[in-house]
Amino acid sequence: MTDRHLERIGRAVEEGTARDLDALVISPSPDLVYLTGYDPILFERPTLLILRPDAEPALLVPELERALAAASPVGERLRLIAWSDASDPYEAAASLLEGADRIAVADRMWAMHVLGLQRRLSGATFSSAGPVLAALRSVKDADELDALRRAGRAADETFRQILSMPFRGRTEEAVAGDLADLLVRTGHDRADFTIVASGPNGASPHHEPGGRTVLPGDAVVMDFGGELAGYFSDTTRTVVVERAPEGFEEAYAVVREAQEAAVAAVGPGVEAQQVDRAARSVVESAGLGERFIHRTGHGIGLEVHEHPYLVEGSRTILEPGMTFSVEPGVYLQGRFGIRIEDIVAVTTEGVERLNRSSRDLQIVA
Ligand code: ZN
Ligand code: ZN
Ligand code: ZN
Repeated sequence: MTDRHLERIGRAVEEGTARDLDALVISPSPDLVYLTGYDPILFERPTLLILRPDAEPALLVPELERALAAASPVGERLRLIAWSDASDPYEAAASLLEGADRIAVADRMWAMHVLGLQRRLSGATFSSAGPVLAALRSVKDADELDALRRAGRAADETFRQILSMPFRGRTEEAVAGDLADLLVRTGHDRADFTIVASGPNGASPHHEPGGRTVLPGDAVVMDFGGELAGYFSDTTRTVVVERAPEGFEEAYAVVREAQEAAVAAVGPGVEAQQVDRAARSVVESAGLGERFIHRTGHGIGLEVHEHPYLVEGSRTILEPGMTFSVEPGVYLQGRFGIRIEDIVAVTTEGVERLNRSSRDLQIVA
């Protein structure tokens, strides 16, 4: 745990106070990593970071993990309170939360832990700490942006190298295996996901790559990402094997134009929903609106999907340092799918693309 973590804890408490919260309770999750750097395995035994404006931050840990927490960087900076298996951890939490009427809990906290807290603190009202953490985590600092840039470059290099590998006659699983290897070879610490959806499978945006053999005339959607220094890449390109299927090139041009229009709409002060509208209006004018079956994008950082979400109805104001995907797509059942996805960062002037792979249609063999 560093000064940066202490500063983040301070800002979380301030944000909480501004929202009239008396306490934030955070369980193991990317939220805890963001605030402390501590990343224990999530179990039925609760580990709880308790933040209150009028008290020192405290980390409630299972007795058997006390040594682990003490040896971790949080050990020197946080007040550790251990509870033993024979005792009630929620009782211990309740004594640290005494007098708190409005308590916000992490979105990733297990229901059993939330219910345990509620049993011991029946007078308090509980809400989500999500908005507090989203306000902090969605705006990246210089080091976070640097990690995301490096992850983006490694993903671009992965795409460049997969283009010269064979597709025809191989299974989706085999191509996905190549992508996973390339993600690591190009600099990620690990591959996180590799969607390879060929031919009609491309019409399912989250298709699990399987045993289908890739054929000439297939469009192939490849959506992949890995983790680098705790941050993620996430990019999608759609290629064709030897030749484009019937009707593909026209639809590809629409998705490409939609993606460019959405990226051009990104800038400080813009509402998140305006980026979605920019992409959607291009797809709708081409008569494919009903085939664009998902939001335009999602924030990315310590998680692949996080705030802000680029979706109709989101009035979140974009700020410099926010990072998210721009990924319009169209999905034609029984035929093919098309998606083009890049990560972008909001800058003081406008937008920076963290993925720079060519968006021209690529033909593979
Ligand atoms: Zn997705
Ligand atoms: Zn993706
Ligand atoms: Zn994505």
